[in-house]
Amino acid sequence: MTNPVSEPGSNPPAVGVNTRVIHHGEGFAGDTGSVMPPIFPSSTFAHGNAGGFDYTRSGNPNFRILDGVLSALEGCDHTTVFGSGVSAITAVVSQLKQGDLVLCEENLYGCTVRLFEQVFAKFGLRTQWVDFTEASALNILRSSKPAMVWIESPTNPLLKVIDIEAVCSVAREFAIPVVVDNTFATALVQRPLELGATLSLTSTTKYINGHSDALGGAVSTNDTDWHQKMVFSQKALGLQPSPFDSWLITRGIKTLPLRLKQQMANAAALADQLALHPKVAWVRYPHRNDHPQHALAQRQMKGGGAIVTVSFQANQEQTYRLCKQLNWFTMAESLGGIESLICHPATMTHAAVSAEVKAKLGIDDGLVRFSVGCEDLVDLQADLAQALELLA
Ligand code: PLP
Repeated sequence: MTNPVSEPGSNPPAVGVNTRVIHHGEGFAGDTGSVMPPIFPSSTFAHGNAGGFDYTRSGNPNFRILDGVLSALEGCDHTTVFGSGVSAITAVVSQLKQGDLVLCEENLYGCTVRLFEQVFAKFGLRTQWVDFTEASALNILRSSKPAMVWIESPTNPLLKVIDIEAVCSVAREFAIPVVVDNTFATALVQRPLELGATLSLTSTTKYINGHSDALGGAVSTNDTDWHQKMVFSQKALGLQPSPFDSWLITRGIKTLPLRLKQQMANAAALADQLALHPKVAWVRYPHRNDHPQHALAQRQMKGGGAIVTVSFQANQEQTYRLCKQLNWFTMAESLGGIESLICHPATMTHAAVSAEVKAKLGIDDGLVRFSVGCEDLVDLQADLAQALELLA
């Protein structure tokens, strides 16, 4: 049974984003009338079935449902789902070959850096790290002619905003594929493919699922060759998600617009509160007018997102104490769930990045990243105020 919002092979009709994420793709409800899709834990499928399924490593009804809803959200032709964001990154990078150069934004998620430097480097893949907020990066792109460009925007954890359209337009001159890790923004806030990217990659573990109870990743594209490559990677490298996690993420995505609206409103208010504190050296929030790429963020992003990064004038011990003093922000890795989290990137998410690079980027002991949740704003504000007293 299919849903008119996203029948396979057809472009979704022009309906709002809330409708798209709720009335997603195929339901596989058969003749039961089930409003929610079932979970298909089957590892294998009878030969010659109408759905075209054979073995879950290369496809499953729950993957296909999630592919459909993510494509509807991105407004694109194809999405392939993976077992985590890191699996999605692996799927893309494994399509490159020995000697290829990847031109990377210098502030990527720590595990992306680790994959490039400690795994793919062993197979002869080369990387060059540049600051894509500098105009000189486009000249480097022109002269180095890499096999791929890899950016995140906003970046993790510094929330640098990169001009995706400008990067893609130079890359297009040389037919260089551009990958945008869109995890922090989601397609609700920013559409990399519309800005010219070849691949929009997301850790669906974060905002898309939104409940911190499943891991997943996805790669969306309008390029049929790249879609085939992603399907191949999913199957050949065994990077597929579980049917149950796919089902959970499909359920989570239905409330993404509601959650993100509240999270972004809370985040903007907390960024303003933090900026007033005397021990705060700086606050980064893309839609605040003191953000270094504020005008670009206003143009490129429909909202400021729900991550706030702050640099405290504090050493590691003081920063840790502040993190632990909070009641409604759990000190933990990850982001994007309905519950607020706080993280110390230097020793947590970016522990794998060399001390030298962290120092160059400014990921120091006083830096913290807030992932702002859906709690009542007054409670978050009061909690933050009491913890900030430690720094008085
Ligand atoms: N990309 C970004 C920007 C991330 O922040 C993360 C995880 O934090 C990932 C990718 C990897 O996602 P996963 O943890 O689902 O493998």
